[in-house]
Amino acid sequence: MLLDNHNRHINYLRLAVTDRCNLRCNYCMPSEGINFVKNDKLLSINELKELSSILVGQGIDKIRITGGEPFVRKELMVLLRHLSKLKDLKDISVTTNATLIGPYIDELKELGIKNINVSLDAIDRTTFERITRRDQYDTVYENLVKLISEGFNVRINFIVLEGQNEQDIISILDIMKHYPVAVRFLEEMPFNGGSKSFKTIKWDYKVILEHISTVFPNYKKLVSPKTSTSINYQIEGHKSTFGLIPSFSRTFCGTCNRLRITATGDVITCLYGKPKANLRDLLRQAKSNKKVEEAILTAIGARAKTGFEAQQEHASVFDSSMTSIGG
Ligand code: SAM
Ligand code: SF4
Repeated sequence: MLLDNHNRHINYLRLAVTDRCNLRCNYCMPSEGINFVKNDKLLSINELKELSSILVGQGIDKIRITGGEPFVRKELMVLLRHLSKLKDLKDISVTTNATLIGPYIDELKELGIKNINVSLDAIDRTTFERITRRDQYDTVYENLVKLISEGFNVRINFIVLEGQNEQDIISILDIMKHYPVAVRFLEEMPFNGGSKSFKTIKWDYKVILEHISTVFPNYKKLVSPKTSTSINYQIEGHKSTFGLIPSFSRTFCGTCNRLRITATGDVITCLYGKPKANLRDLLRQAKSNKKVEEAILTAIGARAKTGFEAQQEHASVFDSSMTSIGG
């Protein structure tokens, strides 16, 4: 079992498989993209397989595949097939923009992958295109509905962006009320590759809830797992649920069970902190897994208590983009 220095049980790995993406969401990166790393700096599929096996051996039992956009990575399915055979891995999930997932839906189902998070920050096409800077609305919507109807446990991630998509908060709830899906509203974080900076946000989780309750006053709070980052609710008469994720307010650090590994092998123990080791270099140099295991244990043994503490570690944290941190 992996325990950090604050006695938190770390069992959840967010593994980024690429820093590339086919969208250019304006809260994630500038329109020209970021300096994507060279191919040889990315963990290879074999290295991703090896690292996952090491971490599952150490006590990770849930892996979420993220990026960049996971489905731009060639041979992603090779990795997912490997993960599906790890018997101590109880949960494999994927976070995706749902533009490229279509051809893989059947195989994902066959592999027993049930949990898919789809990023969708607008239900209105023009707003979607303005935010993502790409014309992919129909494909995303079609894939989203297909995933729901195929029985996946789908959660929509909707970042509330001041001046951009507030008007869609109610509209998305109104449309999704017919579907068994969780719509989760996230606070915007300043990880956008340096295109804008801010120290406060208008749309924090309390303001989002107040806004929803003016239109839908009849909702009940749901019981959520202790390590959940979302506070979850259901509106009377809706098939869907909704959640609020205080990603900027950071109210959930006390029960944080996550570890992140970026596409280049950096170990990140808090989104707001500095990378703590690079496992790619260790994997390439070492003849045994021991050094990799030790580096993971050392990083987990020195975690900041909260995101606010982690943020003190480096002044340039807010120059990063979520596509390279691995959201
Ligand atoms: N491309 C995939 C996607 O968009 O779902 C996976 C990678 S993306 C970086 C992972 C998650 O991070 C997405 O839900 C995205 O909306 C979220 N994200 C990206 N930039 C963010 C920001 N500045 N603040 C809050 N969430 C952000
Ligand atoms: Fe791509 Fe996801 Fe970032 Fe949007 S949020 S640009 S889909 S990595």
